[in-house]
Amino acid sequence: MRYLVLSDIHANLEALEAVLADEPAQDYDQLVVLGDLVGYGADPNAVVERIRSTNPVAIVRGNHDKVAAGLESSEGFNTIARRAAEWTANALTKANREYLAALPAGPLEVSTDLEICHGAPYDEDAYIVSERYAVRALRFAVRPLCLFGHTHFPLALRGEGDRFQLIGRGPLLDGRIPIVESSKYLINPGSVGQPRDGDPRAAYALFDDMTREMFLYRVEYAVAQAQAKVIAAGLPEPLAERLILGR
Ligand code: ZN
Repeated sequence: MRYLVLSDIHANLEALEAVLADEPAQDYDQLVVLGDLVGYGADPNAVVERIRSTNPVAIVRGNHDKVAAGLESSEGFNTIARRAAEWTANALTKANREYLAALPAGPLEVSTDLEICHGAPYDEDAYIVSERYAVRALRFAVRPLCLFGHTHFPLALRGEGDRFQLIGRGPLLDGRIPIVESSKYLINPGSVGQPRDGDPRAAYALFDDMTREMFLYRVEYAVAQAQAKVIAAGLPEPLAERLILGR
C-alpha cells in the first residue's frame, strides 16, 4: 500500500492542487491527512471539498479545524490567527463546517505499521518543537511509524530501543527514508499550505509499506496567486507575505 500524506493545508488551494498534480503523488492507494485543512488561507471551502472528494482513508482534525468548526474558541491564538479563524468560520458552508466538526482527534491507527496525529500522539494540540518532545512522542507511539504535523516543519527521528537518532530536519530533510523493521519512526512531512522551514515550496510525503520507504517531496506552486487571494479576501497581510518566505 502506498499512502499519500498531507498535513497543514490551511485553505491554500493552489498548494494543494500542485501537490495532487505532482508526479510522485499520482501513484498512491490511500490518502491520509494530518489535520489543519483550513485557517490562514483564502479557500477553506474548496480545500475541504477537494479533500472530501479524494476520500481519505484516515484523517484527524487540527487545532484550526476545531476553531473554524466552532468546537473551540480562538482564545489561544495570536491576533492574526484569530482574525483568520473568524474569517474562516464565517466563510465555511454548513456542510463543510459539519465535516470539520466531525473529524476525529488523533492519534489514529491507520494500519499495523502506521499511526497519525496532528500535534503529538500524547496530545493533539502539542507542538513537537525539539528532539526532547520528539523522543517523548516516539516513546508514546504504538506503531512503528508515527506521522505528525502542526509545526509546519519537517522532522524525522528514529528510535531503536533506548537510542534515538535525528535523521534530519527542515529543508535539508529531503528524499527517501528507509523504515527499518526493528526501529520506530516519528516523521513530520512538513506543511502543504504554509511551510515554515524557509522553503516556500509545498511539502508532502508518500509512505510505501511494501518497500518500507518514506519519501519526502517539495513542489513549487502558484504562490503569487494564493497571496493575491489572501489579500482580496481581506485576511491579514502577513499571511500572504509569509507564503513566499516559507516562514
Ligand atoms: Zn497548522
